[in-house]
Amino acid sequence: MVISNERLQAVQADIKKAVTKRDTEHIVNQTGEVTLLAVSKAQTAEKLREAYEAGQTKFGENYLQEALNKQAELADLNIEWHFIGPIQSNKTQLIAQHFTWVHGVDRLKIAQRLSDARPADLPPLQICLQVNISGETSKSGVTPNELLDLVRTVCALPKLTLRGLMTIPEPTDDEALQHQQFKQMRDLLNDLNKQGFALNTLSMGMSSDYKVAIEEGATIIRVGSAIFGARPAKVSLEDSN
Ligand SMILES: *Cc1c(COP(=O)(O)O)cnc(C)c1O
Repeated sequence: MVISNERLQAVQADIKKAVTKRDTEHIVNQTGEVTLLAVSKAQTAEKLREAYEAGQTKFGENYLQEALNKQAELADLNIEWHFIGPIQSNKTQLIAQHFTWVHGVDRLKIAQRLSDARPADLPPLQICLQVNISGETSKSGVTPNELLDLVRTVCALPKLTLRGLMTIPEPTDDEALQHQQFKQMRDLLNDLNKQGFALNTLSMGMSSDYKVAIEEGATIIRVGSAIFGARPAKVSLEDSN
């Protein structure tokens, strides 16, 4: 327990440091705040509870069934749940019912289904569109060229609120390349806002690159192993398809 909290505090301290290094022109939201999303895939509900007790309230999950199990176990906590995994259309209903945010929307069909399935008594689902910024063919995400059309159509859906963009860049140790990829995301967001949209979220940066992401303007960083340690073997990821 102590170990998990120490890691969390170390990440929080790193965030503060990166924020002070950040050029003010790189800030894309009004407050300048950076939100730490704890990525808890493959971690037990107990680990999440420990992090929660240390002050962490926002958690990101990738696998629907695993997330629903944890939500049931942790129903006594006031957690804000973010879905950050790939989204199949047969999962959209449960995702729309059980999460506050969805990162990683990259096609209209999924957005439409999420909007249709969002319960009327809940506020709109908060959405980030995933952009494939490094152009790897295997990656999900829209290309920068496809982005504007998707932004327009998603903005028109009644039960979604488009908040901004999300990316998982090609992993690299080359810090200059990390900067460049995150900067491209910021430029995309700023371009959209110049065209009249009001987007305030850049969901980018993971354990290996969140400091660089913050310097380039990330408003939500998604951090797993730096908080929880290495993920246990894939056993609990058996959500499959
Ligand atoms: C697993 C995951 C993360 C966190 O990765 P770490 O390297 O453990 O910080 C962030 N975002 C997404 C979409 C993920 O799947």
